[in-house]
Amino acid sequence: MTLTFDGPIPGSDLPLCSVLRCDAQGAFVVRYEAEGTGRRIERLMCAAHVDAVRAGEAWRWDDEQNVFLMGADRVASGAHMVSGYRFEVRTFETDTTLGSRPIHLYVEVGGADGAHTQDLHLEMSQSIAADLAKTLTLLTTNSELE
Ligand SMILES: [Zn+2]
Repeated sequence: MTLTFDGPIPGSDLPLCSVLRCDAQGAFVVRYEAEGTGRRIERLMCAAHVDAVRAGEAWRWDDEQNVFLMGADRVASGAHMVSGYRFEVRTFETDTTLGSRPIHLYVEVGGADGAHTQDLHLEMSQSIAADLAKTLTLLTTNSELE
C-alpha cells in the first residue's frame, strides 16, 4: 500500500490538498492503486503532507468522504480500527441467551500512532461466532475480486 508522488507541480492556483481538514494548496499529484482491482485514485496533496507520508506517517484513503485521513482523523473518524484481538472459550461457562461455551472476543482498538486505544470485550454464542468466521473468510477472500 504505497503512494507515488509526482511534483512539485509548477503554478500557484492549484486546488487544495486532499487530506481531510487541510487547506493548503496541492503541490504534488498523489496516486494510489487499490490492490488487485486496477482501480486508481489520483489526487493532489500539499508539500507538508507529502513530506509526512515520505517520513512514514500512516494514512488511509476514505472512499466515502473522498479524502485521505491522517493523524487523529485516521484513527478517530468513522469506524473503530482493530489493531489486535484474541479469542477465549470458557469451557464450563453457560448463559441463558448465549448457550454453553460462549466465545469471548477481546478487541484492541486504536492505532500504533496512539491517538487513542481502548479494549472491547464481546461475548457471543457458538453459532454467531461461526457465522462471523464464515463472513470474514468470504470478505477477505473476495475483496481482491471487487
Ligand atoms: Zn495537506
